[in-house]
Amino acid sequence: MNKLAVKTKELMRRFNIHPNKRLGQNFLIEQKVLDSIIAAGDVGQDDLVIEIGPGLGTLTEELCRKAGKVIAIELDRRFIGILDDVLSEYNNYKVVQGDILSLNLKELLGEINYQGDVKVIANLPYYITTPVIMKLLEEGTGIKSIVVMVQKEVAERITAGPGGKEYGALTIAVAFYGLPGIVLDVPPHSFIPEPEVYSSVIRIEVQKEPPIYVKDRENFFKIVRASFSQRRKTILNALSNSGLFGWDKPDLKQKLNSIGIVETKRPETLSISDYARIVNELI
Ligand code: SAH
Repeated sequence: MNKLAVKTKELMRRFNIHPNKRLGQNFLIEQKVLDSIIAAGDVGQDDLVIEIGPGLGTLTEELCRKAGKVIAIELDRRFIGILDDVLSEYNNYKVVQGDILSLNLKELLGEINYQGDVKVIANLPYYITTPVIMKLLEEGTGIKSIVVMVQKEVAERITAGPGGKEYGALTIAVAFYGLPGIVLDVPPHSFIPEPEVYSSVIRIEVQKEPPIYVKDRENFFKIVRASFSQRRKTILNALSNSGLFGWDKPDLKQKLNSIGIVETKRPETLSISDYARIVNELI
C-alpha cells in the first residue's frame, strides 16, 4: 500500500471516520494525482487558493505549502477539527464550514481582500460538480482558474467540440466563460473508498470576456438550453417547438437561413457563434 493510503487509513481510524457516501467522500491517495492537480493549478506563493471539499486535508496540506493563502470550504463538520490537527504546522489557511452551493463567495473574498490571484481547486462529490462549476463561472468573482475532479464523462462533455454526442449546453456554458482542458484521467483505485466511475481532472482558465459577443446573456442560455433539450430534432424544429419568442416555423426558417444557418442542422452541430448570431439577430 502506498504512503498516502496508509496515512489516510490511519487518519480514518484515529478520528473514527466512516466516509459518507451521500457527501461523495472519496479520499485521494495517489501522490501523482495530487502533484498533477497542484501543477495544473499553477499554485504559487502569490496565490489565494480556495479549496472546496478538503476532507482529511491531503490536498490542503500540499496547498498550504505552495500557496500564499488557502481557504478550505468543507460541509462535513467532522472534518473541521481534523483539518486543524492535520494542518497544525501551517498558519496560512482558514477552514470555512459550509455548503459551497449556498456560500456567498463574493462576500467571503471581499472580507479577505486578497491582492494576488484567486484560484480554485476541488475534489468534490460528482453530483454537485456541474452546479459548482457554473456557480464559480457565473458569479463573476474574478477567479483566475478552476481545477476540479469530475466524472470522466462530464470532462468529455465539457471539452467536446461541435458534432458529437458529448457536445451540449454544458459545453457551451463553460466555453462562454473559460478555456477548458483535461489534465489527466484518474482511475477508481486512486481513491479510498473507490468510486464507481472513472474520473478526470479538468482545468478551466477563466476568461475576462466571452469568446463571442452576445447581446443578451439570459436569452442566449435560454436558446442554447431549448435547442439541446430537443437535440435529436433539427434546429428549426427544436426552436419553433420551444415556444420561445413567438417564432413560427416558416418565418424562423427564413431567419435562420438569413444568418447562414441551414435549418435542417441538428443543435449539436451548431457552434457557439451560431448560437450567438441567433440571439443577436433573430430576437
Ligand atoms: N479533497 C479531499 C476530499 C474529497 S471527498 C481529497 O481529495 O481527499 C469530497 C469532500 O467534499 C468531502 O470532504 C465532503 O464532505 C465535501 N463536500 C461534499 N459536499 C460539499 C459541499 N456542498 N460543500 C463543501 N464541501 C462538500
